[in-house]
Amino acid sequence: MKSLFRLFVLMLALSACSQPVQQQRQMKGVILHVDDLKTMDWPALAHENGINTIGTHVNPGQVLEFIQSESGKVFLEDCRKYGIHVEHQIHAMSELLPRELFSQDPEMFRMNKDGERTPDCNCCVHSDKALDIIAAKAAEFASLLPSDNHRYYFWLDDGKETCSCPKCREYSVSDQALIIENRMLEAIREVDPEAKLAHLAYFNSMPAPVKVKPAEGIFLEFAPFDRTWDSPLTDKDATAVLNDSGITHADILRHLEDNLKVFQAEDALVLEYWLDVSLFSRWKKPAVQLPWNREICRSDVQTYAGYGIRNVTSFAVYMDSTYFRKYPDTGCLKEYADILSEIK
Ligand SMILES: [Zn+2]
Repeated sequence: MKSLFRLFVLMLALSACSQPVQQQRQMKGVILHVDDLKTMDWPALAHENGINTIGTHVNPGQVLEFIQSESGKVFLEDCRKYGIHVEHQIHAMSELLPRELFSQDPEMFRMNKDGERTPDCNCCVHSDKALDIIAAKAAEFASLLPSDNHRYYFWLDDGKETCSCPKCREYSVSDQALIIENRMLEAIREVDPEAKLAHLAYFNSMPAPVKVKPAEGIFLEFAPFDRTWDSPLTDKDATAVLNDSGITHADILRHLEDNLKVFQAEDALVLEYWLDVSLFSRWKKPAVQLPWNREICRSDVQTYAGYGIRNVTSFAVYMDSTYFRKYPDTGCLKEYADILSEIK
């Protein structure tokens, strides 16, 4: 009896050790376009500099094509060798609900402000048929593009409008997104029972959802696009640099606080732009040199940590072989990972 009890205790201890270690690992990530991954040995670069997660980007089709190619297989093998988690951060909605289905059933697609159904972007979240198709497709992508950390990202169409039909118009962009995400997660868990799915707070989905509650397993991904990287978030009066929205850092932090009343901080992920050469090049090549500022990054990371957020990733798009030939210094990557390691 005694030995049975011991065995039971041992099994409990073993299951406690073996399971959550990987999931609880603090994310120190970068997100790269698959074209960057094709020309640069990112698994080695990440490994040398202390980055432990690589997110692929942009659309499901592009990412699938890369992952299933020979160079994609080598990328996955190398990441595995170095213990780097691979995840896929993708703009997905137009592929989750194929646009050509519009002629069959316009009701699945969003209504614009003029009261017309249009397949230009996103969907009608009060169409069960649309949600069924979206959820099934998300599960299919999740099985073809599994995530090492069980985090999945199927974002709405990039900053685009959502549905204004009589049923949807009562719901904010964030609430509409959450309706879709809750439904997708259910289907993705059929493929990966440990799956978690991102709710992206970004641009027009920055305000916290108010009418819809996240299902267990939906985590906040906070991407403060409407800021400036010339000064830290603690500079409350600083305003957005990429548009004239007039949004200040104080507004961004208020949105973060509101979101953290809905989502758990320990699971939340910040998606930043400190390393995003594509952003500083205004998404046009030739790429400019990254205006890396260690102190601003450190201050921001501490601000996020003050809210209990430890998991951080940054776009590093355009950091391909051409970029590093011109600007060979990779010191920013090491400093970035070191700053994240300072979070306790
Ligand atoms: Zn609608």
